[in-house]
Amino acid sequence: MAVATCRPLTPVPEAVAEHAPDLALTDIPGYFSWTLTTTGPLPDAASPERLHEYAVTAVQDWAKPVRDIIGGADAAMTFPVTITSARPVDPWDDPVVTLLGDAVHTMSPGRGDGAGIALRDAHLLGDLLTSDLTVAEAKTAYEHQMLDYGFAAVEASRNRPFGFFGKSARPGSPDGRARRRPDDRRSVVVTLTDEGRMLLPKIPPVFGQTAALLTAGISPDELQTTHRALLRMRENLASGRR
Ligand SMILES: Cc1cc2nc3c(=O)[nH]c(=O)nc-3n(C[C@H](O)[C@H](O)[C@H](O)COP(=O)(O)OP(=O)(O)OC[C@H]3O[C@@H](n4cnc5c(N)ncnc54)[C@H](O)[C@@H]3O)c2cc1C
Repeated sequence: MAVATCRPLTPVPEAVAEHAPDLALTDIPGYFSWTLTTTGPLPDAASPERLHEYAVTAVQDWAKPVRDIIGGADAAMTFPVTITSARPVDPWDDPVVTLLGDAVHTMSPGRGDGAGIALRDAHLLGDLLTSDLTVAEAKTAYEHQMLDYGFAAVEASRNRPFGFFGKSARPGSPDGRARRRPDDRRSVVVTLTDEGRMLLPKIPPVFGQTAALLTAGISPDELQTTHRALLRMRENLASGRR
């Protein structure tokens, strides 16, 4: 079972107005969600209420906090998600058709990689199309790279869907706890020991105290302005590198 919470740092309409005023994005409020994974068939009449009941039954012997999360959820908001993994493909011959994101390398969301890789596709293709290459050359170069890192990510998501926290991430690292991501060699994934995992609950309060210390006497408006300025600096830095 996995739980996730989403709380936008900046309200969605405000962020859209600032970063992408031409887009119409749905203003989704913050939420807390749970996901229960099963490999068996789902109940026949899979109405939201029936799915919720199924989940409640599945965790009836689990720890109370888990039962509370699922039992206290809004049953009508329960929905099934079928997870599929793309099979590797070779580059294709059509000179003017290419694919990005889930259209070519859909993968398990366990590692939280799909959207990042889709954006990487868009970035790479954009760069190549605006380079000195012809459209056909750009398309070929894009597919060559994208199929490589895209399907490495699909494989990782299938073999180690929760690899960031799994012991399977050990091999290849000097201390047995760090390795390079197969789909992005610039990133090093560090996994936690059992001892490290025990310490996890103690970290948020320390962050909270540090944040309180750092921001003492600074108003929310001033913090918001600082946050925007830092984001702008990061964007400036990124556009300067291109
Ligand atoms: C439950 C779940 C959790 C996930 N969690 C994460 C996560 O934490 N981190 C992460 O990085 N990734 C996550 N992913 C994966 C991520 O959502 C996808 O990899 C990503 O959205 C792919 O982007 P995309 O633009 O390729 O496709 P999509 O986001 O699917 O966009 C395709 C769009 O095309 C539209 N469309 C389809 N057909 C047509 C048509 N004929 N005409 C017009 N429009 C059409 C669709 O409505 C859709 O809006 C998750 C996926 C799932 C299912």
